Order: sequence, then structure tokens, then C-alpha cells
Amino acid sequence: MSTDVIARLKRMAEDPARVWIVGGATYAELLGETGRLANTLRFLGLKKGDRLLLQVDKCEAVLSLYLACLRTGVIFLPVNPGYTVAETEHFLQDAEPALAVCDPGRVAGLQGLGARVIDLPSLLDRAAVQSGDFADPDHGADDLAAILYTSGTTGRSKGVMLTRENLASNAEALVSLWRFTATDVLLHALPVFHTHGLFVATNCVLYSGARMIFQRAFQPAAVLEALPRATVMMGVPTFYTRLLSDPGLTASATSHVRLFISGSAPLSPATHAEWQARTGHAILERYGMTETNMITSNPHDGARRAGTVGMPLPGVEVRITGPDGAVLPPGEAGSIEVRGPNVFKGYWRLPQKTAEELHDGWFVTGDMGAFDTQGYLSILGRAKDLVISGGLNVYPAEVEAALDDLPGVAASAVIGVPHPDFGEAVVACLVAAPGATLEEERVRRALRDRLAAFKLPKRVLILDDLPRNAMGKVQKAELRRIHRDLFAAE
Ligand code: AMP
Repeated sequence: MSTDVIARLKRMAEDPARVWIVGGATYAELLGETGRLANTLRFLGLKKGDRLLLQVDKCEAVLSLYLACLRTGVIFLPVNPGYTVAETEHFLQDAEPALAVCDPGRVAGLQGLGARVIDLPSLLDRAAVQSGDFADPDHGADDLAAILYTSGTTGRSKGVMLTRENLASNAEALVSLWRFTATDVLLHALPVFHTHGLFVATNCVLYSGARMIFQRAFQPAAVLEALPRATVMMGVPTFYTRLLSDPGLTASATSHVRLFISGSAPLSPATHAEWQARTGHAILERYGMTETNMITSNPHDGARRAGTVGMPLPGVEVRITGPDGAVLPPGEAGSIEVRGPNVFKGYWRLPQKTAEELHDGWFVTGDMGAFDTQGYLSILGRAKDLVISGGLNVYPAEVEAALDDLPGVAASAVIGVPHPDFGEAVVACLVAAPGATLEEERVRRALRDRLAAFKLPKRVLILDDLPRNAMGKVQKAELRRIHRDLFAAE
């Protein structure tokens, strides 16, 4: 069993000088703040197992409230502040939180949906008069720590139930794998309503007693300004591509950093190579999801292979299965399944859905992938994004890698679109690099000696931008919807 997050926080707070946020709180102050907030939640009548919905712009208090919930046993339920009040209704109805905490401008909207609401400044004011001493009750490792809703169409998004042990075991594995120590300074520019910024980044810092530079949003200029004081940066691929388009990104600007980590969406081998050429750093790519926390990582010391997500974390099992459920050998593509202390407890109030995707401890991730003979896993895309053209499987990731390699391509997304002859046709959506001009026929010609004919895009669409979610992930369902009639007239 791993050390609980709160036990770890208390250990770190024993040193009164240990800094949690650069220019902000120490760990001792953080512990006191979580105590005041925990007392406030109690005072407001929240009990173990109740849900607290939090929907605020990124700020330090999100982390204090997350930890205060862990202390009381209240289940933390952070929601993207980008969602409208109408989009938030689903979470209120589904999770029935005992309390919703939000920015002042949202109070009326959420109250209108019938929630018990308090704005964050008022909650913090109430906490300020509480004692920082809080008598922590006992918690079980299997108790729920948080519910995070899956991204995707909000109306159907599912509540992912994460236990204390899910978070603790993953934090311990990552700290050891990525060699976090108390001397590290993490540059935190990720959102804190998603597993990446909330758990991966925050818990790596907390478990190692390190500190963080906490930025409220990702701004390339602010990141470049702070990098000389940071030792680790975690980012989504769009952080890296946006930094690459800033001339301020140089080897000297990144020389103080020991580790750049990427995840939450595929990092193209082209971006990996460009980053290495510009800075000398090989970005370490890892793979995870809300339901499983982190699953695999490229090695800290061994080769970091672009286009792969590395090996399973210690204590985590990964297998590739075929359509009949049989486990496939290296080199063969199939469904990625995961088992271990990182895997969630199930979907909130969806026992049927949980049973479909989680059996004998194995979770069917919905991603397709293959191991190579050295044990590195490659992600080939979501199973539902697989294109079946003329009866043959086309893995979007493979076509995207070939496209990203072409000069002038800034970003690519490959989708399947209904086609009268082929069932589905491969369609490439491209965004040109600044100053570059892409042309459909030339792109198709350039791919001919790289890909088998059945994988070649039937159409190449040059777009101004790709639709992305808050984590920078391309919304392929949206692309499919927009372009579904592309071949209808043929
Ligand atoms: P989320 O639950 O929002 O974090 O999304 C998880 C999904 O993001 C996974 O199931 C993958 O499809 C995708 N993902 C995360 N990390 C990577 C990665 N390094 N490469 C490719 N896809 C990734």
C-alpha cells in the first residue's frame, strides 16, 4: 500500500522552511490552509462521501481545496471553468454535489440549476476565521478521493471514480521513475481540473517535497521567462509546438531544466525532433488517461523513443488484445488494456458501463496500440477513430506521423469519413506552418512512397486550425461531423 497523499503532506510540512509554491505558501502554510478549509467544509455540514463541485479559474486555492477534501473524505469534483452553466448542469444532476464552489460570476447561474452554491472568495473568507488544526479521521485506501468527468461531449461524459490509492500509487511510481527530489522546481502551466495538472503535476511535487512555479495559464512568453528557474516542465503537445514557434526558445533558455515531459495527446515525432534540435532536450513522452492515471512512460535514463509512450509503470500491467480477446504478441496492433493500483474504481452511477470496460481488474482503455520487441508501446489512436477503408484497418497515428514529417505541416489529424465505395475513406486535415503553403495534390504525392496505397488520404483538407479541447487534444468526432458529407455526392 502506498503512503496516502495527506500523510505525505504532513511529512513535508514538518520542515517549516519547505516551499510549496515559489513566491507563495510553504508546505506548513499549505497544511494550515487545508486544515482551515477542512474545518469550514465540516462547518457547512459536508460529510465523508459527499461531493464538492469546484468550477473556478486556475488559482492556488484549487490545490488547497483538493487537499482539504482529501482530509475530510469529501469527494473532490473539479469542473472545467470553460463550460457554460448549461454544460455544467449534467455534472450537477449526475453527481448531486452537496456544495458547488465557483467564481462569483457563476453563482446565480448554478443556483438557478438548484445547487447549493458558495463563491470561492466567500469560502476562503469563512476559512480564514477557522482553526488550522484539523483532526483527520481515518480513511481507507479504497475510499473515493475524486470524481473527474471524462472529456468529450459533456452531455454524455462519465464520472470517473478515483480512490486515494489510485492517486498515491501513481504519485510514488512517477516520482521514482522521473527522479523527482526536493531540489526540483516544476513549472506548472497546466489546467487544474484535469488529471494531468491536478494529479500528475501536483502530486509529483508534493510526494518529493519539491516546489512549483504556478502559472495561471499557459503563455509562451511567461513560460520562457520562468524556465531558467525551473528544473522540470510538464506539458501537453501544444505547449511544445507553441514554444517552438517562439524565437526565444533556445538551448540556453532551457539549460536549467533537467526534464521536459509530454502527455495527454500524441506528441509528433517531428515535434520531438525539432525540440531536441533547438534545445538539446529529448522530451519524455508518457501515456495515461483519467480512468487509469499514468500507464506508461519513456525511460528517464534509457532511450526516449519519439512516437512511442514507453513502458508500463512499475506495478502496472499492460496487454494488447485482439478482437477475440486473445493477448497479442509484440508487433501486433490491438486494444490496449491496463491493470494495476492506478486503475479507477468505476464510473459514477454507471455499473453497466463499468462492467463493460472493467473486468478482472483489466480496464479496456479504448485506445489501440502495439508493443515493439524492446517493450515500447505505440499508441495508434482511439479505437473509435480507427478508419476501416475497403475492409482494411488504417491507424490514424501512422498516417499522421508521415504527414507531420512533411515540410510545412504544422499539425495533422486523420479521420474516416463515410464513402460510397470504401465504407470509410481516409481524410487528412492539415494546418500549414506559418509562412508555408500546402497543396492537396502535392501532399498526396509526397505520401506515396511512404505509405501503402490503402492508407493514402483520399482527400487532404487544408484548414486554418484543428478543433481542440482544453488539453489541446484534437476533437476528431467534431472533424468527422463537419466533413461527413465530403463524399456524399460521389
Ligand atoms: P484524458 O482522459 O482526457 O486524459 O484522455 C486520455 C486519452 O488521451 C488516452 O486514452 C489517449 O487516447 C490520449 N493520450 C494520452 N496521452 C497520450 C500520448 N502520450 N499519446 C497519445 N495519446 C495519448
